[in-house]
Amino acid sequence: MGLFDKAAQKSPWIIHFDCNSCNGCDIEILACLTPLYDVERFGIINVGNPKHADILIVSGAVNQKNQRVLKNIYNEIPEPKAVIAIGACGCTGGIFRECYNVMGGIDTVIPVDVYVPGCSPKPEAIIDGVVKALGKLEEKRKKMKEKGEENPFLPEEFTSELVEIPSITSETKEPVPVSDKPEDSK
Ligand code: SF4
Repeated sequence: MGLFDKAAQKSPWIIHFDCNSCNGCDIEILACLTPLYDVERFGIINVGNPKHADILIVSGAVNQKNQRVLKNIYNEIPEPKAVIAIGACGCTGGIFRECYNVMGGIDTVIPVDVYVPGCSPKPEAIIDGVVKALGKLEEKRKKMKEKGEENPFLPEEFTSELVEIPSITSETKEPVPVSDKPEDSK
């Protein structure tokens, strides 16, 4: 397993996009980062740049105005990537479904891998969604490998196999000379 694969498997970086939600879902997403749930202890980090992210978390219903922004963010995330639709609005459009400018759930604009229903879903359900997305990421990574596709954004050294670094033991260490006085002091 390559260095990048190993790191991505254990520490998914996420980016959150609010597609015009009522903020109920966003508060629950932010709660995952608070000391009570503290997802950072699992290596799950919320990033601001889509190029650094593995997982896109979207709350709210997509509308005519923000669909272009959502598509742009999705396209900026390197493969393999996973998308999680948060809440009833993210899954189907929810209570905003019939509004004149609303297109519906996230999957009307970009492909969705995991749906987390609820209005709003609890932080536990959101964390469970991220864990499910990790499984999807792994499947996609395997398919890319089978097809011989490598991530074009990664330099070659990140896609090569891990190199064993010999550990330094007391036998291999050079003894450090100790003197009371530095040589150049008079
Ligand atoms: S699912 Fe409920 S809490 Fe979440 S954005 Fe929609 S209305 Fe708000």
